[in-house]
Amino acid sequence: MTQRRNFAWMDLLWLAFLAGLAALTPGLDVILHKQLILIAIGAFQIFEHRFLAWLPERGRCYSVILKILLGSLLVYHTGGIQSSYYLIYFLPVVTAAMYFDIWATLAWTALTSAAYWSFVIWVLSEYELTGEGAEELALRTLFFFLAAIVVNRFVTENREQAKLYRDLAETLAETNRRLEQAQEEARRSERLAALGQLSAGLAHELRNPLAVIKGSAETLTRKLASTDPLTTELAGYISSEVNRMNALVTRFLDFARPHHLEQHREQILPLIEQSLKAAHDRWPDAKVEVERQFAENLPEVTLDGELIERVFANLALNAYEAMGSTGGKLRVTVAPSSDGKGGVEITFQDTGPGIPAELREQIFNPFFTTKEAGVGLGLSIVSKIVDDHRGWIRVTSEPGQGACFHLYLPEGRSAETSSEVVTDGI
Ligand code: ADP
Repeated sequence: MTQRRNFAWMDLLWLAFLAGLAALTPGLDVILHKQLILIAIGAFQIFEHRFLAWLPERGRCYSVILKILLGSLLVYHTGGIQSSYYLIYFLPVVTAAMYFDIWATLAWTALTSAAYWSFVIWVLSEYELTGEGAEELALRTLFFFLAAIVVNRFVTENREQAKLYRDLAETLAETNRRLEQAQEEARRSERLAALGQLSAGLAHELRNPLAVIKGSAETLTRKLASTDPLTTELAGYISSEVNRMNALVTRFLDFARPHHLEQHREQILPLIEQSLKAAHDRWPDAKVEVERQFAENLPEVTLDGELIERVFANLALNAYEAMGSTGGKLRVTVAPSSDGKGGVEITFQDTGPGIPAELREQIFNPFFTTKEAGVGLGLSIVSKIVDDHRGWIRVTSEPGQGACFHLYLPEGRSAETSSEVVTDGI
């Protein structure tokens, strides 16, 4: 809105300026050609930004050339080398100074000066150029260069300043985005920690009654095996369902239990390869093409190899499952961390159905699953293990274009081995 008003103001100023030029006729009768050329200059000046939008690459050169031509026509029709309208040449000179760097500006100014000087050559056959006349022309030419240099310097400084502000705004926006991401991850960690605490409590409480039910069912089976087949069958159901519940409680505890990290300095790539092999062995018939993009000279990272392999295996398995029926491509990349803090960044990107925006945070919650036979503990365990290693995991996904899990593992302490029980919040 503001920009449009600026343009309107500028257009008005241009019209006023050109009307002034048209009205004044120093030492001349009213000349139709002059008015027409001024109208052409005015019209081009007003529509120049549209012309540049239409031809952004070469438009700037054409614009300066056109202004030199129109300026020369004006000078030609108002007395040639004698014309007081030679000042119109400031127009192409200033335009070039605004559009180009200093060397191109000087070249365009030289071309403009040559156009002006060409009027001298024109009259040389009839008149002689006196020393005074030549000096006057040289002086005018020098002023063209002066204007070019001053405007160019001003515009360059302005442009640098604008770039500085733009960069600053971009950095601020990026910092803000990272802050929001970090807040979201912190919220997720807190949520998972609280859920972990709840799960651990519940699982402990369930274990004892389950053991009693299982023991009683087995005793019943033994005692009544020969007398009542129906009771034996029912006791068998109790026993197998208790086994299922026990398995679930074990997974519950797996998620909730504080991890005891056995950390060593390790290379990431062998862990990735093992996890890819595990996913392939689990889904040998899946038509999944695996693309590896591993940077060279990856740093070693202090981590618990067994747990981190579980992380990679979960991500690879999920990707295989997502693409299982139709097939697709799983691209795994590993590179040194881009923020210069050390550590590595790993991505698992598949071409499956992707994850809808509204589910992208929920998938990290325990027991969230969209699979018929899923348990929904995979990603919550992944998230927790990554948290325990003081890294982060994020997911991006365009619907229909697959999912990309992006994780960062810090380099960790450089001690050869370390052992740590991570109990944050649990
Ligand atoms: P589960 O695999 O048992 O469902 P997870 O915690 O591993 O549990 O995954 C939770 C949910 O996240 C999945 O049910 C699925 O909806 C979604 N998900 C995970 N990985 C992908 C993926 N690569 N592509 C699409 N959806 C995914």
